[in-house]
Amino acid sequence: MSDEPRPLLQQSNGSQARFDMAKNMEGQKRKRVLVVGAGAAGMSCAHHLSNHPDKFDVTIVDAVDYCGGQAYSIPLKKEETGASWLNQGVQGGSYIFHHTMTMFARNGFWADPVKLQVSFGKGEQFWSNVYPTKLLEKHAGEVRRFRTMLSIVQALEIFFALMPIKILVKLFRFSAEFANVVTLPMVALFLGTGNYAPDVPTMMLERLCTSETYGMWYPPDKHSVASNLPPMIVFPNLSDFYDTWKKNLIKRGVTVRLSTEVTRVVRRDKNGVVVKIISRTPAKDGHNANSAWVPDDVEGSKADADAQETTEEYDEIVLCVLTDTAKRLLKETITGVESRVLGAAKFANDITVTHQDHEYMKRHYENFYSEELAVQKLNGKDMTSRCDFAKDNFKAMYLIRMYPQDLTKLEMCFDCTNYQAQFPPEVPFEKHVFQTIFLNNERDGKLWTMDEIDESKIIRKDWWHQLCHSYTHYLRVVPWMWLLQGKRHTRYAASWTLVNAHEVACISGISAAVDLGAAYPDDLERDKFAFLAFRLYYLLIYGKWYRRRATKKSREGEGAQWATGNQYGSTYNGPGVQTGTDRLIWRQEVEAGRSLEGF
Ligand SMILES: Cc1cc2nc3c(=O)[nH]c(=O)nc-3n(C[C@H](O)[C@H](O)[C@H](O)COP(=O)(O)OP(=O)(O)OC[C@H]3O[C@@H](n4cnc5c(N)ncnc54)[C@H](O)[C@@H]3O)c2cc1C
Repeated sequence: MSDEPRPLLQQSNGSQARFDMAKNMEGQKRKRVLVVGAGAAGMSCAHHLSNHPDKFDVTIVDAVDYCGGQAYSIPLKKEETGASWLNQGVQGGSYIFHHTMTMFARNGFWADPVKLQVSFGKGEQFWSNVYPTKLLEKHAGEVRRFRTMLSIVQALEIFFALMPIKILVKLFRFSAEFANVVTLPMVALFLGTGNYAPDVPTMMLERLCTSETYGMWYPPDKHSVASNLPPMIVFPNLSDFYDTWKKNLIKRGVTVRLSTEVTRVVRRDKNGVVVKIISRTPAKDGHNANSAWVPDDVEGSKADADAQETTEEYDEIVLCVLTDTAKRLLKETITGVESRVLGAAKFANDITVTHQDHEYMKRHYENFYSEELAVQKLNGKDMTSRCDFAKDNFKAMYLIRMYPQDLTKLEMCFDCTNYQAQFPPEVPFEKHVFQTIFLNNERDGKLWTMDEIDESKIIRKDWWHQLCHSYTHYLRVVPWMWLLQGKRHTRYAASWTLVNAHEVACISGISAAVDLGAAYPDDLERDKFAFLAFRLYYLLIYGKWYRRRATKKSREGEGAQWATGNQYGSTYNGPGVQTGTDRLIWRQEVEAGRSLEGF
């Protein structure tokens, strides 16, 4: 692993040559591509199209006044928290995020490493990956059966793959407590948000425990279910990163138009695509409230109701927006297949409350090592070393609790101070910043305890319209996307096309660019895991196999050493992440005067 963040990583396709080529091509027809949405998917798409200014004239628009979509930062009071910013919502990922980290590097940023510690449940129902507790002792038989169940599911994956977890746990006769308190949080955490854990396909749970490549809980532990501390990465300041990326896109010839919303796609035929667009009034913090064209806004916002629509024409459109938005925008020209596939995705409205109410946290979560709940032996195996480690080192980062009235419904929380790398390593608990996520307003809002959070300790509230990773998504949406891609000059890129993760959004954007005729970057092609992930995504979502461009000779070069760790090379060892220094982001923020050294 690299010790220091590397300097800006140039794309292997030379930039001067690009612009010279563009000049030479003046007068020849370049494809006018409209990218709708400047989240991770849209930015990745625009970036890779801009490698070919001879072929593409790229415009990217977003309804809000910043780039990054769901990935952004908010300001904090340094004196009260230890840091002057927080990555809101999107926090980090795994070492399999090769494309994300490459994009960090290309823009001069890097991620920091972290070993994930979780805290699931409260009191007698508490368990963690850091030390064994009474709950695991109570269910020792089921813990062993869970291991057996994984082996059976792994061997017969084709049969079990899409089975919802709620059926699986019944089939293997797990108790309700074990199913809800042990099994569900393991999946819910991976998917981030969406209170649909019981409906998530079994394959996700199985792969999380058995996949050497991306299994967060690999290897499964027959005594404690999960006892590894997954090596993860935490993201740099996402607003800074996306702002820099935006400026670099402009330098590369991309037209970036913020506070610009596509309201309708009114024509898609052999002549191209015609869209209606409105200009939005920029909000002070960049987060323009939903316009009057967005139906069913959870907060009832109807901003810019008197904006005038204008008409624009393009050759191709890439919709990097949520599925239901894509369906709404296409309404006037939509085909039956498009309507069925796009309409099958399910969404929920979640809210994140960013706060410093440590009393709320103590009331509902296990935040510290508990002598009372720890056990020194499981299945006769000595566990004292894990308990000793936890006494000094337990720092819960991701916490989940189940509502006592209905254990199948969860509330999630980040202890951002323990997790994100800009905070000092030791911060008094009452100064910590927490982010509690209340899930699925329409269905589960009645269970929420949001009102218990002390208003005076709330930093910010944000609504999210979130994809539910129900098994139906993998039956009715994902397998059919290839039927839609490229039809009537329209492509779709966004994380919902597979799994709600930043890396998937990046791969989806690159895939759309490639499908339009851009090249997959040489360095990433040499990174065997990145290339494999891209190729599999492209095969599944576009129904096409991307042919390797590199010759035997050109296989050596930057990128060839980035993939390490196992036969697939899933662990990233390239630029865009550092592992040499603990909380390097914090150290540099202290130097820049943006974080405190300590309290
Ligand atoms: C609370 C939360 C926590 C998360 N945590 C993590 C995490 O830790 N790690 C991780 O990997 N992933 C995480 N994710 C998921 C990850 O953030 C997303 O998968 C990814 O950022 C989505 O990128 P996208 O480009 O697909 O979509 P988005 O980021 O949603 O971008 C879509 C863009 O389209 C714009 N848009 C919509 N309609 C229009 C229109 N009509 N005209 C113009 N523009 C329009 C929107 O304004 C938006 O900017 C989290 C998500 C949430 C909500």
